[in-house]
Amino acid sequence: AAKAAGKSAYRTCTPGLRESAVSRAELIAELRRAVDEDQLLMEFQPIVDLATGTVRSAEALVRWRHPRLGVLPPARFLPLAEETGLILAIDRWVIHQACRAAATWRAYAPEVTVAVNIAAAHVRRPDLIATVTGATAAAGLAPRALTLELTESALIEGSEAVLERLHQLRELGVRIAIDDFGTGYSSLSYLHRIPATELKIDRSFVSRLDAGDPRAYATVEMVNRLARAFDLAVVAEGVETGTQHAAVAAIGCVHGQGWRYGRPAGLSELLTTLTPIDAPADRPGGHGSKVL
Ligand code: C2E
Ligand code: MG
Ligand code: MG
Ligand code: MG
Repeated sequence: AAKAAGKSAYRTCTPGLRESAVSRAELIAELRRAVDEDQLLMEFQPIVDLATGTVRSAEALVRWRHPRLGVLPPARFLPLAEETGLILAIDRWVIHQACRAAATWRAYAPEVTVAVNIAAAHVRRPDLIATVTGATAAAGLAPRALTLELTESALIEGSEAVLERLHQLRELGVRIAIDDFGTGYSSLSYLHRIPATELKIDRSFVSRLDAGDPRAYATVEMVNRLARAFDLAVVAEGVETGTQHAAVAAIGCVHGQGWRYGRPAGLSELLTTLTPIDAPADRPGGHGSKVL
């Protein structure tokens, strides 16, 4: 991925600075058009119950089908989108698409929720509430079926206004996840203030479980215990191998996400993995832990 990124046309450190500057401006113009011209696309990655393998939720992940460069991952265009403010339009589009998709699959599997990533810039805007209520209403989706994923860096700048906004969203029933938990610069004290409903343990910790790294194990265990104490659901991110799966399950994490359970894919592919259920059965292995 680093190699691919190094080849990207808009990297300012690539040789031929003038050329790349032009490409960058070009890419910005193209990105602006992309939103209007339907070049963005959504993929969904399942979040499963580790004990049963049942899909409980799906994370919406945006891609850009670039007319010349092919399908670009978020790392190739979101930084640019954030710099230019286009991220707001992209996130709005994503929220609407994700709510519509979730309404579709919930007709079949009514308990499966959807998670959407929200940029830091978006969290700081008062109209986030209107965007969320507009999108859920338009899709006919219950707000409690929607999780907003926020990173620690988005939250650490958390002014009183941001906190108030998050509380308002919670009152509407919207769920709030802290994404990539453990990688930000935040202090633990903000856990007391943010009205989060779940923690997502960053992939960097999970991937080190393979090597039997005792520190990685202790980190995942500590975050899981912390989450329980705060009455938060836990998702182990980036589970790729059987060893990692066994480790996070042994530690007691309730949910997992990663290639081991399913790669991000189109809506129709996600639909094939859903189990039609009317009511969540009492699940084994939950030990009273919070579910998604
Ligand atoms: P994230 O929210 O932490 O999303 C998880 C990322 O990990 C996704 O990368 C996913 O494809 C990848 N992943 C999942 N399981 C595995 C695994 O087992 N192994 C490995 N190596 N990777 C795995 P993706 O789709 O490239 O997205 C990267 C980041 O871009 C996301 O990280 C999120 O921060 C951001 N992003 C994606 N879509 C959106 C969006 O619609 N809006 C905003 N604001 N940000 C988004
Ligand atoms: Mg996320
Ligand atoms: Mg994440
Ligand atoms: Mg991540």
